[in-house]
Amino acid sequence: MGKAVTDCACPNAQCAMFGKIGKGNIVLHGFLKLKRGRRRRYRCEACGRTFVSSVGTPYHRLKCTRAQFDRVAALSVEGMSKSGIARVMHLSWNTVARWLQRAAEAAERFSDRVLRGYMLTELQADEIRTFIDSKKRVQWVLAAIEVWSRLWVSLVLGRRSYRNVRRLLADAFHRGECGRIPLITTDGNRYYRIVLGRLFGRGCIHGRIVKTFRKGRVSKVERDLSIGSEWQLEEALLYSEDSDKLNTSFVERLNLTIRQGSAYLRRRSPAHARQGECLAGQLELLRCYYNFVRPHMALKFGREIRTPAMQAGLVGRRLTFRDIFTAVAEFLRLMALAIRVRCRRQGLIPRSALAL
Ligand SMILES: [Zn+2]
Repeated sequence: MGKAVTDCACPNAQCAMFGKIGKGNIVLHGFLKLKRGRRRRYRCEACGRTFVSSVGTPYHRLKCTRAQFDRVAALSVEGMSKSGIARVMHLSWNTVARWLQRAAEAAERFSDRVLRGYMLTELQADEIRTFIDSKKRVQWVLAAIEVWSRLWVSLVLGRRSYRNVRRLLADAFHRGECGRIPLITTDGNRYYRIVLGRLFGRGCIHGRIVKTFRKGRVSKVERDLSIGSEWQLEEALLYSEDSDKLNTSFVERLNLTIRQGSAYLRRRSPAHARQGECLAGQLELLRCYYNFVRPHMALKFGREIRTPAMQAGLVGRRLTFRDIFTAVAEFLRLMALAIRVRCRRQGLIPRSALAL
């Protein structure tokens, strides 16, 4: 009998121990030999099924190396289109599309799990306009950034509606913690004020930046305090290490990073998204890259350049795509839960944990 392991769970949805971690039912079961290297195999004592360590990660049953997979993800978040990646990496377009979809799903799970418990003192929110398929189908990318750590805390794709603004702000605040009264700066969109009023009452400071454009240039900037009093704003700005007046510069800088990191969002791009899911997936991957992998030049301390997640105290070091894609053992339990809930809702029997 093999040695019991505690850090993974049975991926067989029909097994009684499905998704349960640390119950002692998983034992080591030799190795799977690959062309290059080998993968650890496990066996579940409860159902007798064997599985490989890559189950549940995007690397499962990959015909290429994990390094190639990581490189495809990295090229995508540095703004290369799928066709471009396919040419550079000598892969077919379909392979690239499939890999990126898998990578995006893993990135979304990772963000959902790890982006919690950050401190929220200054938040800025803004929207990017884009379109899906035809220019008539306008879509907005709503993004919120925590200014002190530069953490991209929340992302919503869709119409510029009350519901989506609420989703954006509620997500940012439910995952984080407020120490002082938070300072929130947004553009002139009227929904922000309504949503913040309902979320906080008078427990926040909300400033609006209304820009008037003339011939494509900003001709006038109006700053307007919509929630909170002047002295509260002065105090918040005094405490702020980044802002000395109301501004949306940090979220606008993030918007630029987003545009540069996505072939879909480049201006006049011929590679605009044909399907909403592709854009949403790519943005989730980009968000993971921005928060956890990419060193942020504004967070340079001596020789160390931190990532926003390091600055926010969520992780201790710069992560790599490998870290993000393989951080799956502890997710199996959550995945299992999600599958069960979904299957129960649809009246189906879960096929396996890989059905995600
Ligand atoms: Zn089992």
